[in-house]
Amino acid sequence: MSRTAAPEWTQIDLTSRRGSWGQRVTAGLLVASGVIGFALSFPALSQWWWELALLGFGCLLIVLLGTGLWINAGMSAGETVTLKESGARAELPVVSAFETTDEAVRYQLQLRLPEPADGHVDGREFVVHACGYHRCVEAARAAPDSVLPVLIDVRKRTWGVIHGSNASETPTPSSG
Ligand SMILES: [Zn+2]
Repeated sequence: MSRTAAPEWTQIDLTSRRGSWGQRVTAGLLVASGVIGFALSFPALSQWWWELALLGFGCLLIVLLGTGLWINAGMSAGETVTLKESGARAELPVVSAFETTDEAVRYQLQLRLPEPADGHVDGREFVVHACGYHRCVEAARAAPDSVLPVLIDVRKRTWGVIHGSNASETPTPSSG
């Protein structure tokens, strides 16, 4: 509790290029269905103002949802590219793991971060990864004799667990 100087570590969800593309398609479909739905039902409902208001509100909500998803996909894709460029691959030891009651997030894994290079070791640092991915679940069950592959940027204090297919992806220069 006495260590206050260092900022918190930020976990980044390493999305594959395909993953963020899928999110963008979903976002686009949501926005389109909101707009088209409103346009199609407008003539049929125009005599009932409260139906119009309800429909307008519903469509607006769908459009906002889609826009939010699109922005989110872009942000996590950008963070992933940054971490892939500046981060280094490492294997973090799983110190302990707890099974959760959440179906999507099966385990909470406590990982031990590598010691800082400047020799400033006044207490090891730990991060928590909550996940339901099968390899993470296996690592959780094997704890404390297991490791997880991660990308880590010590300078920016960001890290992300490498899941499945994006482990084989080679870092590519950002194309914008
Ligand atoms: Zn995981």
